[in-house]
Amino acid sequence: MYNKDNVFYKILKSEIPAEVIYEDEAALAFHDIHPQKKIHALVITKGLYSNFDDFISSASAQEIRIFFSAVSKVADMLGVSQTGYRIISNIGPDSGQEVEHFHIHIWGGEKL
Ligand code: 5GP
Repeated sequence: MYNKDNVFYKILKSEIPAEVIYEDEAALAFHDIHPQKKIHALVITKGLYSNFDDFISSASAQEIRIFFSAVSKVADMLGVSQTGYRIISNIGPDSGQEVEHFHIHIWGGEKL
């Protein structure tokens, strides 16, 4: 069950700012406010999904394709496609998921 009371919903609605990298009809990408690696970006869905499981079971095939293509495009824009990068999505309490709006972390720019 999606709860609008989360910080990424506020970023989507432009209620709080973000350092935006890329945007299309399914995805919004911006820099993480507390980067854990040299490059640490977040790609969030425009649709309201609380985590990966919610997204993959509820989104259309087209939305899923556009979203994951955006993740790849953002990695390219950040210059890590050649050097390598890691994508991560936290799901639920044991993962430490802080923000209950589906997102992918992109880490790179250094040896992980
Ligand atoms: P999670 O633990 O939910 O997978 O990751 C949430 C991420 O969102 C964390 O890496 C955290 O630093 C980042 N974050 C939390 N609040 C904000 C914010 O207001 N702006 C940005 N850009 N990132 C945020």
